[in-house]
Amino acid sequence: MRRSKAFIPTTKEAPSDATLPSHIFLSRAGFITQVAAGLYNYLPLAKRVIKKIENIINEEMTKIGAQEVELSFVTPAELWQESGRIEKFGKELLRFHDRKNNLFVLGPTHEEMMVDVVRNRVTSYKNLPLNLYQIKTKFRDEARPRFGLMRGREFIMKDGYSFHATTEDLDREFDTVEEAYKKILTRLGLDFRIVEADSGAIGGSGSKELMVLADSGEDTIAVCSKCEYGANIEAASRSKRSHIPEAPEVTFNKFKTPDVKTIDELAEFFKIDPYYTIKCIAKRVIYEDESEIVLFFVRGCDNLQEVKAVNATEALDIVDVTEEELKEIGLVPGFIGPLDQDKAKHVIDSDLKDAKDMICGANEAGYHYIGVDLSVLSDVAYFEDIAEVNEGDICPHCEEGTLSFTKGIEVGHIFKLGTTYSEALKAEFLDENGKAQPFIMGTYGMGVSRMVAAVIEQHHDDNGCIWTKATAPYMVNIMISNIKDEAQVQAGEKLYKQLQDADVEVMLDDRKERFGFKMKDAELIGFPYTIVIGKELVNGHMQIFERVTKEKTDIKSEEIFNKIM
Ligand code: ATP
Ligand code: MG
Ligand code: MG
Ligand code: MG
Repeated sequence: MRRSKAFIPTTKEAPSDATLPSHIFLSRAGFITQVAAGLYNYLPLAKRVIKKIENIINEEMTKIGAQEVELSFVTPAELWQESGRIEKFGKELLRFHDRKNNLFVLGPTHEEMMVDVVRNRVTSYKNLPLNLYQIKTKFRDEARPRFGLMRGREFIMKDGYSFHATTEDLDREFDTVEEAYKKILTRLGLDFRIVEADSGAIGGSGSKELMVLADSGEDTIAVCSKCEYGANIEAASRSKRSHIPEAPEVTFNKFKTPDVKTIDELAEFFKIDPYYTIKCIAKRVIYEDESEIVLFFVRGCDNLQEVKAVNATEALDIVDVTEEELKEIGLVPGFIGPLDQDKAKHVIDSDLKDAKDMICGANEAGYHYIGVDLSVLSDVAYFEDIAEVNEGDICPHCEEGTLSFTKGIEVGHIFKLGTTYSEALKAEFLDENGKAQPFIMGTYGMGVSRMVAAVIEQHHDDNGCIWTKATAPYMVNIMISNIKDEAQVQAGEKLYKQLQDADVEVMLDDRKERFGFKMKDAELIGFPYTIVIGKELVNGHMQIFERVTKEKTDIKSEEIFNKIM
């Protein structure tokens, strides 16, 4: 490609809301333009990077026998009603009616649709296992789209779904996909960690996330100093939560204490969407009389907006969190709980000791739930301060190392779904004995457009992008220093042709611009190599500038191939 003809609208200014390097540089270097919140156009450079990522995914998926399909983006809402997820997915699910008044959704993920594709088409265990995947635009009406491609509303995902006759076979496939995902991220040049995770709204048992390590990551992960153990802090907290004993059902005035043991049940009780809401129980407080309360923190739950205004500052005392500390990390305290608003206000207005007596005195086991609605939160920094696992804890896996926290970008997520969807959608096969069984399923997601951003979060400097060799939109940029120098132009054109003939992806910067300007531009875009054809040409030399090291060395044209291959 000739730079003079290329559509690469670079700019000096970053968008005003851009805070992350990937957002700033992908915008400034002319890879993307913003359409509206969470909606982006991919310009030619971005398109090339995306294709590279997709090619690597396709290659590794083909190697493990997965087959590519493409399902309709627009999905009939009935499928989501069948699975029961239409409610659960909440406002992230964009719904609309067609002209005949049929309800549809824009696919935010495709479990239902894929089950629908397979049901009644695969009918025997003999045709299992089956792994189908697609690379496709997804839409989620994210509450806070931000950080450019990192959290878009429209984004590209590789989503795969596997169907099995036995759980052993699902376990085998899950491990196979995990290995393939590792290869993909390694080939892309990303430094990552696989961590244990929650299953979110998708549901299921085993779940692992692939985290690209970067300070800007939205997720906090706990990693062991000794073994391979790593866990999303939410999942790490969840494993501790499972020790909370069963709560008995007691009556307090008109109010019935929830008989809940798990966060999902609690969410169900409050009629709130666990996907948006309860991310972690903060602290369990045990009183001298052995009664206890559990304080938990939620974020992003719309149906608690009204109670948010009720002040729960006092409640914070008992968990050693001051309002100032909360404010420092951007939280607004509020009260939610198994009490109506008047009662809640009364509890809060009175001394907290009274509140404890009121609540726990009436309840021997003392199970009550007070929380803080963090729906106004803009990040997850608070998990560090309040999560049950804190830094320095003994690793739950090897019980030798200690846990430390680090930040990660979730670029992939794999789940063992089991029969949740096949049962709900009545998708069955006949087993060896001719008996109808629901498919046992796995689901495997990878954020393709998010990975474009993740590469830059991990590989950039103050001057711009530093693409890894596997992701670079062009490997080589040939820069003719002085476009008026005929010899330089000829040498540039010749090298351009040679590299093209050798299938090297090459850009020829043939613009009549100042050298300094063109060099800055090349650094901003982040070509792995820029070959400068300048004054040294008279001595038979060119210069090669390596983006990652910023080293400039003299090189003869015939040595270039060895260097860049
Ligand atoms: P997050 O926790 O960041 O909201 P998620 O857990 O909701 O992500 P999954 O349902 O696991 O996402 O989807 C699979 C993958 O799709 C994620 O691992 C991520 O890489 C990507 N992804 C999810 N939401 C977005 C988004 N809004 N923008 C870009 N990529 C996304
Ligand atoms: Mg999400
Ligand atoms: Mg997630
Ligand atoms: Mg996920």
